[in-house]
Amino acid sequence: MSVFDALIGQEHAVAEMKRAATDARNITLGISDSNSANSMTHAWLITGPPGSGRSTISLAFAAALVCPAGGCGECADCRNAMAGTHVDIEHIVPEGVIYTIDDTKSLIERASLAPSRSHWHVIVIEDVDRFRNDAASVLLKSLEEPPPGTVWLLCAPTSDDVFETIRSRCRQVVLVSPTLDAIATQLNQRYGIDPNMATFAARAAQGHIGRARALASDELVRERRNEILDMPSRVNSVVACFEMANKIVANANADTDSIVNPLDEEDEENIRTAFGDGVEGFKGVERQIKSAVKALEKRAKDRRRRVLSDQYDRVLLDLTGFYRDVLLVQSGSDLPLINEELRAKIEKLAASSTSAETLKRIDVIRETRDNLLANVNPVSAFEAMLVTLRNPQLLASGS
Ligand SMILES: [Zn+2]
Repeated sequence: MSVFDALIGQEHAVAEMKRAATDARNITLGISDSNSANSMTHAWLITGPPGSGRSTISLAFAAALVCPAGGCGECADCRNAMAGTHVDIEHIVPEGVIYTIDDTKSLIERASLAPSRSHWHVIVIEDVDRFRNDAASVLLKSLEEPPPGTVWLLCAPTSDDVFETIRSRCRQVVLVSPTLDAIATQLNQRYGIDPNMATFAARAAQGHIGRARALASDELVRERRNEILDMPSRVNSVVACFEMANKIVANANADTDSIVNPLDEEDEENIRTAFGDGVEGFKGVERQIKSAVKALEKRAKDRRRRVLSDQYDRVLLDLTGFYRDVLLVQSGSDLPLINEELRAKIEKLAASSTSAETLKRIDVIRETRDNLLANVNPVSAFEAMLVTLRNPQLLASGS
């Protein structure tokens, strides 16, 4: 078993990271050959399309660096790393649309701290394309002269999205979109999913590995998806749109709770164990525990925001896939539909609307994503989206 097992079709990148992790261990043992092509680097830029596993591979690499066995996937270091609760790994996801200079300064301050459990302090930054120019300059200084033991793993969709100054100081790893066949095979072989279900999930997830696995293994996830894909044919009235918007947000919050609450409890449990819960004199450290739990609150809050935003992204991705299928039918293409099982419904909508309307509908879904990133109230954002899906003429032309 290895922390890299969940990656599909990224053998080249995985091999490079494994070699670097081995060298990283040799450095701590004082036996590294720093001139070798396999040597460790302090700043990495990991690029790849959505769903290719940018954050999965970054967290796996981080785990390989903090695990005494180079990423066994079984020890406490590996498990905490993959769950996002390792003390020496910081996983940064932008809270708003951009990284501000204040975010960046406080990040760099934290990055300068020495690792506490392992030899490396790993900072994984998602969406590094969202650094503003001034914030990027601050980050740049730390990339140029990294504190000893600090490793930066920067993630972005493509290297073109990243400032040249940052890019040129990083070692780049490029991920590819795994094929639907590769995803289906992995679901079948690694998780024992029935081949038909695996093929359906790979197609429906549009190349997102994590999403494919959730669809294949969780009936609630499939149910939620069906509800969403039913919406285009239910946007008959404004009232219906408002009800559906509320439903989307309520379900996303409920699903987020069911994902993050056990993790929050586990975090607190780990702290209590670390402080010796149940042993003599435990009461004396209760105050220390409280302050440690408080420090975890920010992490829990960030995690909740991240998971909730993933839930919203899924809704938007499923709807985009649906209208993409409508557009395919309207343009007479014989490419396979993402939602083959909904072909009748898709053909009906394709016949009763124009491709210009479909394009507007796809546009408004994209705009909704921007609005959510810009912290527009989610219910309002989805209401506006559904009302425009009902009547795409509402979308200002040229936007
Ligand atoms: Zn391990």
